[in-house]
Amino acid sequence: MLNIILCGAPGSGKGTQSEFIMKRYGLQHLSTGDVLRAEIASGSELGKQIDALISNGNLVPDEMMYGVIENYIANLPKHCKGTIFDGYPRTVAQAVAFTSLLKKYHMEAIMIDLLVDEQLLIQRLIERGKISGRADDNLNTIRHRIAVYHNQTEPIAHYYLHHGNYRCVNGNHNMEDVFLQITRIIDTATEQ
Ligand code: ADP
Repeated sequence: MLNIILCGAPGSGKGTQSEFIMKRYGLQHLSTGDVLRAEIASGSELGKQIDALISNGNLVPDEMMYGVIENYIANLPKHCKGTIFDGYPRTVAQAVAFTSLLKKYHMEAIMIDLLVDEQLLIQRLIERGKISGRADDNLNTIRHRIAVYHNQTEPIAHYYLHHGNYRCVNGNHNMEDVFLQITRIIDTATEQ
């Protein structure tokens, strides 16, 4: 089974690359952002609480995310070739919990970090905001999300580096070139 943790700042291209990886390798795609937005769209009480956090650019609590991921892993179909985890883990606590969860299910994952310059991230998110309709794609919230990323998510790179399954790609290039870098990582990892 090939599991990939796709990590990177908001606007780093996780969603786009997930689509490419999914098609090339036949993997499932779990975007925690999409799961949370679906909960908001359902209009539930929980959705309202999530909305208040997300639209201000904050993360939802680790325990809530753990529930989502555990439920996903426990219900994986037998034929599943693997999953792209897009947007999880996003804190060191989530990374630690995720490692134990994967171990419990005899699974492993490679972490691929999409590295993109801050100016480019802001530019891409502002462009996306014009069409996405996402409440969090406006300049103030974008700056806050990038700060949250630096403070809470970036440290997971060291965690994965220490655990030996860290890979990174230069995400400043065009989509095809970034994908090429990712395929090299995946192909090398699956050859072994
Ligand atoms: P992006 O990374 O481009 O900002 P996502 O769609 O991945 O967008 O996530 C949108 C929002 O959903 C995040 O800003 C955060 O509030 C919330 N979120 C997604 N995944 C997580 C997670 N693993 N832990 C906490 N909050 C999360």
